[in-house]
Amino acid sequence: MTSVARNRLTEAAYQCLPGGPLDINRAFYDQVAATAVSAEALRTTVEKFILPIRSGKAWEVRKGDICRIVAVEGAQVGDLNIWSLHNPRERFWASRTRQLQRAHISVYDRLWSTLPYLRPLVTITGDSLKDYGINGSGIDAEGGRIHDLLGTRCDPYVNRMLTGKDNDYHCHSNLTRAIVPYGLTEFDVHDVLNVFQCTGLNDKDQYFMKTCPAKKGDYLEFIAETDVLCALSTCPGGDLSKAMWGEGSAESTNADPTLECCRPLGVEVYRLPDGWLVERGWKEILPNGTAYQGRHAMKEVPFSIS
Ligand SMILES: [Zn+2]
Repeated sequence: MTSVARNRLTEAAYQCLPGGPLDINRAFYDQVAATAVSAEALRTTVEKFILPIRSGKAWEVRKGDICRIVAVEGAQVGDLNIWSLHNPRERFWASRTRQLQRAHISVYDRLWSTLPYLRPLVTITGDSLKDYGINGSGIDAEGGRIHDLLGTRCDPYVNRMLTGKDNDYHCHSNLTRAIVPYGLTEFDVHDVLNVFQCTGLNDKDQYFMKTCPAKKGDYLEFIAETDVLCALSTCPGGDLSKAMWGEGSAESTNADPTLECCRPLGVEVYRLPDGWLVERGWKEILPNGTAYQGRHAMKEVPFSIS
C-alpha cells in the first residue's frame, strides 16, 4: 500500500514516458556544471561584460557554450529574452515553458521555443539560489519563488497607463534598444524570464513581486542547446524593494525611490574544450516541430482546370 495516493488530476499535465523529451539526463548536466569548479580549468572565457543599471544589451551564445548571469553587486532583477541566432521567429516561449517545466525555473529546467519549432533553446546548469525558501524547498513562507515565468517585462505603455508619465528605461525599452544591432525591433521583444526575481500568487490569485533575495555573487547559468541570441535588461525597479506603481511609488512621491535599489548585472560566456560535450553524448537539439507531418488538416488540393 502506497503511503501517498497519486492524484492524476493535480500532477503535472505535460509528461512523457521515461527517456522521452522531458526526461533530462541529469548526470550529464551535473558534469557541465562541475566544469565551473574543475581543477583542470576546463572553461575558457568567450565574453564578459557588466550591464549598467537601467540598460540592455544583446549577445550571442554559441551552441554548447555556457552563459552565467551574475548579481555582481547584490540584489537586482534581470529580464532575459532569447532567440534562435539564425531565425528570430524562433524565440523563447515563456508560457509553454511554464507547462513543460514549471512557473519558476532552476537547475535542469529548459527554456523552450515557440511553434512551430518547439525545442529547448537552453538548459539551466547552475543556480546559486536553488535552495531558496523554507528548508531549501524553493518556496518561502509567503509563497515566493525565484526566477519567475509568471510575469513579464515592465514596459512604458503600462507605465503610462498607470502613472500618466513616460519612462524610456523600462525593460521592454531596454531590450528594444539592445537588439537594434541585430536588425530586430520592438516587435521581437517577448515574454521574459525574470532572473533573480522572487514572485508568486497571493490568496486573491494576484501576481506579487517580493524584494529580490540575491546576494553579491549569486548567479544563474545555462548551456546553449543551439546557437542563440540573448538580451538582458537591468530592470529599473532594481531589487523591487520599492513600489514601481501605486502608493509609495515615484508617481505618488514625485521622486525616484527605486533608483537606489538598482545595481548592475554581470554576464559571462564560457566555452568547453573541443569535443568535451560530444564525447559525453551531447548534440544540438533540433526543432521537434519538424517531426509533425500534418498540415493542420489543410490538405493540398490538386490544381485542375476542369
Ligand atoms: Zn523591468
